[in-house]
Amino acid sequence: MIKAKAAEMGFFLCGIARAEFMDDEARRLEKWLTQGYHGDMSYMENHFDKRTDPRLLVHGAKSVISLAYNYYHPEKQTDPEAPKISMYAFGKDYHKIVKKKLKQLFTWIQSEFGAVEGRYFVDSAPVLERDWAKRSGIGWVGKNTLLIHPKKGSCFFLSELILDLELEADHPLRDYCGTCTRCIDACPTDAIHPEGYLMDGSRCISYLTIELKKNLPEEFAEKMENWAFGCDICQSVCPWNRFSVPHSEEKFLPSSELLSLSKKEWLTLDQNAFERIFEGSAVKRTGLEGIRRNVAFLQHSADKSGREE
Ligand code: SF4
Ligand code: SF4
Repeated sequence: MIKAKAAEMGFFLCGIARAEFMDDEARRLEKWLTQGYHGDMSYMENHFDKRTDPRLLVHGAKSVISLAYNYYHPEKQTDPEAPKISMYAFGKDYHKIVKKKLKQLFTWIQSEFGAVEGRYFVDSAPVLERDWAKRSGIGWVGKNTLLIHPKKGSCFFLSELILDLELEADHPLRDYCGTCTRCIDACPTDAIHPEGYLMDGSRCISYLTIELKKNLPEEFAEKMENWAFGCDICQSVCPWNRFSVPHSEEKFLPSSELLSLSKKEWLTLDQNAFERIFEGSAVKRTGLEGIRRNVAFLQHSADKSGREE
């Protein structure tokens, strides 16, 4: 019933896991943090206990429901030289949109099953979303460290409901990466470990363009591949994304002004244009200053490459 309701609400994947301590994941997270792969994202060090045990987030938690919400869209920015924005940020910020749906689903569960206590999350609390999604059987974690579903690909947002309701758990899916190494080979900054399944977040363009508040390190000057906000490379080369179908969420549709912004317009973007084009968008996260920094760095990279040629 819950899965049918989630599908009716637009979630295109829904799976269930038992709410328990995440033994393997806790060990992996600890090692990842020790290696400094989280870069300046010091918030990742906080709430380690809650991050690895949902029962500390929701008293008496019994089940974790993982949900996926499609954001794939085939439209592209029209100027091939324009700084690039990750597809997930084309439309309105997903946090509010998905959270509203989670709230509705939670309210519906309470109306159907009685006194259910719980909480819902979308990138909003110390929850290992990808690992819960894996445990819930809605995909496997690929060598690019993203959750992949054999029919839906990986272009979706993850979210969870943690409930004190006992539900039948799903089984994890097997790994279908096989001998493929496309994401590893294509990553311009070598953020993915040569063997896959491990990401040095501090080298990832998504981190560099969104999370890093300092100047972008010079070592990445010729490796940014013109990305100004996020990076889609390791998803776009993944063969499992050939099955992606466009989303039907009107609020995620890209504005025509964003898609048609030329390289020159990016370089001269002012506050008024930024507010207008990115109103309600996840791009607001960096603010105009962040986008200006990134675009200037891309221009610096282009100038440097030109000089070297
Ligand atoms: S998002 Fe881009 S930079 Fe980050 S791991 Fe994937 S390909 Fe590499
Ligand atoms: S590109 Fe290949 S190796 Fe990488 S995640 Fe996709 S299937 Fe796995």
